[in-house]
Amino acid sequence: MKCDLQKIRCFLLDMDGTVYLSGKLLAGAKDTIARMRAQGRAVFLTNNTSRSKDDYVARLNGLGLDVAREDVFTAADAAINYLRARKGGSRVYLFGTESLHKEFAGAGIELVKERPDVAVVGFHTELVFEDLAVLCNFIREGVPYILTHPDKNCPHEGGYLPDVGSILSLIRTSTEKEPEAVLGKPCAVMGELISATLHNRPEETLMMGDRLETDIAFAKNCGYFSALVLSGATDRARLERSEIQPDLVLNSIADLFEV
Ligand SMILES: [Mg+2]
Repeated sequence: MKCDLQKIRCFLLDMDGTVYLSGKLLAGAKDTIARMRAQGRAVFLTNNTSRSKDDYVARLNGLGLDVAREDVFTAADAAINYLRARKGGSRVYLFGTESLHKEFAGAGIELVKERPDVAVVGFHTELVFEDLAVLCNFIREGVPYILTHPDKNCPHEGGYLPDVGSILSLIRTSTEKEPEAVLGKPCAVMGELISATLHNRPEETLMMGDRLETDIAFAKNCGYFSALVLSGATDRARLERSEIQPDLVLNSIADLFEV
């Protein structure tokens, strides 16, 4: 089915590399987002679980985008939703930042340091060795674990930070155990949460992002239309090599309503 932009009522936007780059709003983003809002909802998604939802709301508002908490979905939301829906009442060991601990505790998740029922692995940019040792011990003893998202690296000031997907390699090597679930984009759990909240129809939803394996694969897993922007992590050569092909390819967000 061809994507008719006029029929889209829900626009899902990746942030880094799509809306902004190195902390700066990409040219034309504000106007495109205004057009999206004239037609329906514009919602912002991120896999990064090192910062809280409020941090993202503040960052987007700092760029002049007039965003409320309801307009932002993070992989932490997906993890909290997963725990509530599938692991209700579980004692959770959380491997993550102080900010992520606050987010989980604020959502009513019981966080424990001993005898957990499940371990959650987030993007822990404040980790000390002890955190890794404790996590791997629980998992080795048979505690199931989930990852908030699969990303191996996170873009950071001209380079990369090792992300949850890289920590997974360490956990596997140390424990020989596989995760029970990997949430965030491209996992459809994020889409389940969005549709339970926004009641968007897949055929009226477009996901825009700069990564094929997360953003565009997520759209495909949820039955949304997809638009790849070449303003971030993916260039044309990489797109041509990939089995994951978007419905639309744009130089940047500015071009969405120009195609
Ligand atoms: Mg991105």
